[in-house]
Amino acid sequence: MDFNGHISAKADKIHGLSEKEAKKLLNKYGPNAFKGGKKINPLGIFVSQFKDILIVILVVSTLLSVFMGEITEAIAIILIIMLNSIMGFVQEYRTEKTLDALKNMAAPTARALRDGLIVTMPAAEIVPGDVIIIDQGDRIPADARLLEAKSLQIDESLLTGESMPVEKAIGTVEKIFMGTMVTKGRGMALISATGMQTEMGKIAGMLTTIEDEQTPLQKRLAELGKYIAIGCLVTCSLVSVTGILRGEPVFNMIIIGISLAVAAVPEGLPAIVTIALALGVGRMLKRNALIRKLTAVETLGCATVVCSDKTGTLTENKMTVRSIYTPEHTCEVTGSGFNTEGEFLFQGRRVNVNLMEDVRLALEIGACCNNAELISRPAVLGLFKKIEHSGFEISGDPTEAALLVAAQKAGITQREIDKSYKKLDELPFDSERKCMSVIVSIGGGKRRLFVKGAPDIIIEKCSSVHNSKGDHSMTESVKAAIMRANDSMADRALRVLAVAYRDLNESSGITPKELEKGLAFSGLEGMLDPPRREAFSAVRKCIQAGIRPVMITGDHKKTAAAVARELGILTDDKKVITGAELDNMSEAQLLNVVSKTAVFARVSPNHKLRIVRSLKKCGNVVAMTGDGVNDAPAVKEADIGVSMGLTGTDVTKEASSIILLDDNFASMIAAIEEGRVIYRNIRKFIRYLISCNIGEVLTMFAGMLMGMPVVLLPIQILWVNLVTDGLPAIALGLEPPDDDVMDQKPRGVTDSVFSDGLLGMMLFRGCIIGISTLGSFISIYKMTGSVESARTAAFMTLVFVQLVHVFECKSEKKNLFHINLFNNLFLVGAVLVSITMILSAVYLPILQTVFGTVALTPPQLLHILGYVLIGPILSTVIFHDRSGKKIRSKNKTLQA
Ligand code: ATP
Repeated sequence: MDFNGHISAKADKIHGLSEKEAKKLLNKYGPNAFKGGKKINPLGIFVSQFKDILIVILVVSTLLSVFMGEITEAIAIILIIMLNSIMGFVQEYRTEKTLDALKNMAAPTARALRDGLIVTMPAAEIVPGDVIIIDQGDRIPADARLLEAKSLQIDESLLTGESMPVEKAIGTVEKIFMGTMVTKGRGMALISATGMQTEMGKIAGMLTTIEDEQTPLQKRLAELGKYIAIGCLVTCSLVSVTGILRGEPVFNMIIIGISLAVAAVPEGLPAIVTIALALGVGRMLKRNALIRKLTAVETLGCATVVCSDKTGTLTENKMTVRSIYTPEHTCEVTGSGFNTEGEFLFQGRRVNVNLMEDVRLALEIGACCNNAELISRPAVLGLFKKIEHSGFEISGDPTEAALLVAAQKAGITQREIDKSYKKLDELPFDSERKCMSVIVSIGGGKRRLFVKGAPDIIIEKCSSVHNSKGDHSMTESVKAAIMRANDSMADRALRVLAVAYRDLNESSGITPKELEKGLAFSGLEGMLDPPRREAFSAVRKCIQAGIRPVMITGDHKKTAAAVARELGILTDDKKVITGAELDNMSEAQLLNVVSKTAVFARVSPNHKLRIVRSLKKCGNVVAMTGDGVNDAPAVKEADIGVSMGLTGTDVTKEASSIILLDDNFASMIAAIEEGRVIYRNIRKFIRYLISCNIGEVLTMFAGMLMGMPVVLLPIQILWVNLVTDGLPAIALGLEPPDDDVMDQKPRGVTDSVFSDGLLGMMLFRGCIIGISTLGSFISIYKMTGSVESARTAAFMTLVFVQLVHVFECKSEKKNLFHINLFNNLFLVGAVLVSITMILSAVYLPILQTVFGTVALTPPQLLHILGYVLIGPILSTVIFHDRSGKKIRSKNKTLQA
């Protein structure tokens, strides 16, 4: 096989398997995955609904009551328990499904040649016989034998424990293994074994893609749930004991106590938190942020600094060469995007650059020192690395594609380049060296080195300058002129690459350091990479939300500053710091400036780690984006590590807790917004559930202490629990974002979930629920003298008070009379279902016998209405000012 020494897997050179063959092989060998692993087990989930000890006791005691002749009630209680369990099952099953779907989305991908095209696909679909392309930062998807290798180094520590990367080369070490990681270079390999047949498969133990760990909030709530449960159990026992001491039938009182405990213990709280997280994560996915670690969802709401790459995240990564500089000519280039139509203008006039030998050489070097491809036909590219552009699709690095397009505008085609320069070897681009080289044969046994890279780096490697009359030595004044040209392009926000060359001989050496020196400078190519349109509003939103955006880029200081200023990231009071300046700073100096710096330019990945650490030391909660393999440590160190779905390497994705599927800064801000919404919604239903449960227990306990007849029957308590705790609470988790969610400062990491007066609100409202219900019971009892009527009134009051309270819980700031009641149709629907259920239990004759209820008269209903409204009116008076705004909260709202 002839790859001409470079790896681009062009369709005309190697085809790989056809899709048809691959399908057959997939059927034969099965998916490239390990067997076993956790699968969703619906039966297990259903059975687990009955594991709650309280439920078991309730079922047993209800069955016992059958022997005492209470058959109807017993059947009804069992039915309610079943209904409750089915609801729990549906919720849990859906949550598991959502999380499982997320795991599959975060599953690793691989690039293979299928029908001559490079296709990105889930690694599980790789089959023996596939030809895969591997690059720095990739995880090897299956065991394979190398067909090509360029400066390839692989970290096999996962398999061998050896921490130093192993050099791989054709003819020596050709085998590469599943799960190991490419730390350097590029390569092409033929898959020899997949799934359980691989070395990793033999050892087994799959790399997890999404972690199942609980979030801090889930853990805290589980802990808190235990204390609440103990409190409830003690109170419920007291209710039973008081009843028994008062002479009520013992068995009845036990069932009442247990029913109350079943209703009041918020055992579903952690489950509902998980549902809210899962639903929120689903919403984030719709906004292109894929969550890998659930903990990130919580931390997102605390982020105070967002560090973002420039290229592709804040900008479109759709480069167009706009300007070409050589020491003799400066040409402007027209056209846009990856469309190959465009012209060259010299001093404002159209020119044929083929007649300008120096410009033509610069274009040729750019096109030859290149691994991108322009694909004129639509290619079926996979989920992650799909890059689409109007008119053209490109494969590879957009910076390099732009150089190909510029060359094509001058009529220099890829075929022509391949004909004139046969590629022999390549020193791949890396963001530390900031340049890339290829060795080409130019005929007659002669070899030449073409180099392209960051101008400030290249110029230091140049000892001469090329122009149409030949090469001249590099003088300080020529150097200064080149740097001025570079600066003027950078000031126009152009990303600038320098191109240079050198003729090689036997003594030229082989390492990058030996090769990339004594170069002849050829020219500069300045390309425009426009800021993403949505980035402007995202930056504004970010600043409004009290979060500081910081740009961290490998690009030139001036280019970075121009883009950052345009986007609003860089303002007059903020600094721009370069990697070189960082190197000269002590830790203390960095700590001093890090909070005032909006742009870090010309940085290497190792600088990123220093920046994250300093920001964290200054008390910030840092979100940090990264794509390259060397970014992984910084991404891991950040409080919220963010990787890129399109351009990110597997290693960075694995180190991150969020993947931005479209590499877009705006998606990052959307994720932060969703994170804040999820946290708020969790607070909403915690407030609702706990205050309602306090109300329920208080009603029963106070009733007992006051010597009243039993206020609610067990079946009524269980029905209240079913009607109010299930659907309305979950619907609160689906609340749309409040208008002001991005006008608030980030939450403190140590803030309790009950902070900002929530605990007081819950206790207050819980008491009011209890008092209203008991009040309703007493007054109807006094009016009618009938315990059934009084119970029915208490039964209805308790449900309606809670159904009104659920609307109050929509906002911590506004009172019921200022809230938009209808913006969450799930909640409206859930409340309507609940109303139907309670009215059926009271007014349907068949259910009246089951629930021990009687139809209430309109005056009695008016009474109930009065009790229901006590709560909202009192909390409006106590917690809110006249405009409906909350008056007790710490003033956290930002001045816009
Ligand atoms: P960001 O970090 O925001 O993504 P970046 O893409 O400019 O920005 P790097 O990829 O580290 O950061 O690139 C650093 C510099 O290296 C660029 O400014 C450019 O001058 C040069 N460069 C980028 N890509 C290539 C390439 N494919 N070949 C040669 N030089 C390159």
